[in-house]
Amino acid sequence: MKNSESYPEWDAPFFIGVTTMNIYCFPWCGGQPKPDNTIRFPTRAEAERAGFRPCKNCCSALPHGSWEDRKRELTLVVREPFSFSENMSYLSRASNECLFHTRDGRVYKAIPLEQETPVVEISVDGHPAIKVRFLGDTAPARKWVRAAVARYVRDWFDLDTDLAPFYEMAETDPLLQRAVRQFHGLRNMGIPDLFEAISWGIIGQQINLAFAYTLKRRLVETFGRQVVCEGETYWIFPNPHEIAALTVENMDVLRMTVKKCEYLIGVARLITEGKLSKELLSNAGDYKKAEKLLVGIRGIGPWTANYVLMRCLRMPSAFPIDDVGLHNAIKYVTGADRKPTKDEILKLSAGWTDWESYATFYMWRFLY
Ligand SMILES: [Zn+2]
Repeated sequence: MKNSESYPEWDAPFFIGVTTMNIYCFPWCGGQPKPDNTIRFPTRAEAERAGFRPCKNCCSALPHGSWEDRKRELTLVVREPFSFSENMSYLSRASNECLFHTRDGRVYKAIPLEQETPVVEISVDGHPAIKVRFLGDTAPARKWVRAAVARYVRDWFDLDTDLAPFYEMAETDPLLQRAVRQFHGLRNMGIPDLFEAISWGIIGQQINLAFAYTLKRRLVETFGRQVVCEGETYWIFPNPHEIAALTVENMDVLRMTVKKCEYLIGVARLITEGKLSKELLSNAGDYKKAEKLLVGIRGIGPWTANYVLMRCLRMPSAFPIDDVGLHNAIKYVTGADRKPTKDEILKLSAGWTDWESYATFYMWRFLY
């Protein structure tokens, strides 16, 4: 068994997939699988796209250099540019958010993992690093579960995207130049759970943001799960299995349109039947194919599809071009007296290729 110290500081140069167990390992993992039962993957993403799960022994779920495990506390190493306070501004903008809360520059959340539900306080830890502290008695006893928490937070804050090419493009872009200077270090804060991301897209259709938050709170507090920790209640978004088992009448109490209830139940069923998942969307081939897959589902139009691909799948080319917020932000930055037409947006965003998702997220920042 080789020591991880003989490998690059940040991550392994390749991964070993063990076909008999459907897991992938760091090359230094202690297991000794027969060579016939292994596949070599150049990257973690390729191993996962092939359906392999991270190893619980070597915690291959995330780069070994990207986190430090101190059992009750984790440190996440962050690449520049990153500004914790810019991301906190984004997280603090909705006072009626029910799935996390912010206080004194820190964010508190119950992390929904398959195995357990640790509650964490996330704060800045020197520069540039994030501290994840487990509250109450919720610190996971097993290292691989703590690795899953670290990975969830890295994904939520989008810590693994190299923003340098985006900043380089934005520096000469008339719309983004001001945004990247003013909001330096902002990350595309995500919605890691697919069902939550799609539901949020559906709930928000044709209503204002404040009402969307009210509906989400009703949905979560009626059908979600709660964890009480150190006297605070933390809510977990409903599991698709719970929603798939409902009828529209069961959802009357939410006072949401019948159509939206039907859409949510439909999406929940597709997920529970294994017909819709992050893996399926990632494996669709490219962004356009993933978009097509989503818009084929009842209740998901191009805006919702692109919103989900942007916030959950992290596809850089996802572009919710019909987004009202984007239109308002463009109107604000250009000083125009009306919102831009679709043709005008296409012209203005011509230089954003492969960064449409980040560009949109930065433009939104002008609105809060
Ligand atoms: Zn392993």
